[in-house]
Amino acid sequence: MKIATKFIHAGMEPDPSTGAIMTPVYMTSTYVQEAPGVNKGFEYARSQNPTRKALEEALATIENGQYGLAFSSGVAATDAVLKLLAPGDEVVTGNDLYGGTYRLFTKVFERFGIKFRYVDMGSLEAVEAAMSAATKLIWLETPTNPLMNIGDIAAISNIARSRGALLCVDNTFASPYLQNPLDNGADIVMHSSTKYLGGHSDVIQGALVVNDKALYDQLYFIQKSCGAVPGPMDCFLVLRGIKTLHLRMQRHCENGEKIAHWLRNHPKVGKVFWCGFEDHPGYAVAKKQMRGFGGMMSFELKDNSVEAAKKVLSSTHLFSLAESLGGVESLINHPASMTHASIPREERIKNGLSDSLIRLSVGVEDAEDLIEDLARAIG
Ligand SMILES: *Cc1c(COP(=O)(O)O)cnc(C)c1O
Repeated sequence: MKIATKFIHAGMEPDPSTGAIMTPVYMTSTYVQEAPGVNKGFEYARSQNPTRKALEEALATIENGQYGLAFSSGVAATDAVLKLLAPGDEVVTGNDLYGGTYRLFTKVFERFGIKFRYVDMGSLEAVEAAMSAATKLIWLETPTNPLMNIGDIAAISNIARSRGALLCVDNTFASPYLQNPLDNGADIVMHSSTKYLGGHSDVIQGALVVNDKALYDQLYFIQKSCGAVPGPMDCFLVLRGIKTLHLRMQRHCENGEKIAHWLRNHPKVGKVFWCGFEDHPGYAVAKKQMRGFGGMMSFELKDNSVEAAKKVLSSTHLFSLAESLGGVESLINHPASMTHASIPREERIKNGLSDSLIRLSVGVEDAEDLIEDLARAIG
């Protein structure tokens, strides 16, 4: 099945009780049983809910996986993966991570005796060198937030497999329209469904998709035991979002390409970070593992002062100043004080995330209007 057909039909079966084409929002906490232990496959809504089930099947389908799991947020999905580990285990991960992931690793899981090694995931030698006998998980974000660095999923999955570790890929930035990590050897795909999957800035949710039944069973046990499940209305919203993911992503990619090139040619703009530029260090790998380059990018001004950046950040009208990304409307963000404020300044600067970096989530409006808005703000 081709991608558009797949996204529209994923997880959808007419509702068995009425034939409703959209899976209803099953607002119920429990299910009446005919006799003790005799039920219709639903016992208690933390464990199973029909709306969530439809979504979880859709998630698996769009990531070319066998099993999907929905969580109450992206970080709850990440949290569930980390709970596969035990004290003493080690994780190899990138030095340019979503701020909330970094905070979860350093401030929560380090306290439970898990050790994290942060490396440049663009360098296979660095990944290899960080692996030890205790490494049980490689956590890869590609493209990264906000510097758009690229990790080679197939090559890193080979390293993971040869060392008996799992590879989990945070696929939030690319979305399943642009990249399917399981096809390249990843064991787990993670999403903040809050972003492109939902796509309309109206829900917080997370997802995991896997192929291996034993791994699914472990993650389902954690989902049920720890309880970070999404409500049925939120599941409905993400299920609806998935139906137009391909249409939205096509426009995000078109607009992203136009704006990245426009920024690069602007006399006042310095470095532009976008993985679709042929001279981007990760371009060859991005071209190999992605179907397009998306609408996420960041840039610096030639006047590389925080004041100049702040002036741009507060002068756009169509680009709203806000955290988050992946919605239909364009957003502008200051990672140093917003999404990545939880990363110590020293760490940020060392990894190339300057105080004056500006991040854009290019929406699906008309590119000409977006460019006019940026032109006015940059001056
Ligand atoms: C937003 C985000 C997360 C966290 O997801 P929430 O839904 O906000 O909990 C994780 N990874 C990336 C890349 C993100 O952008």
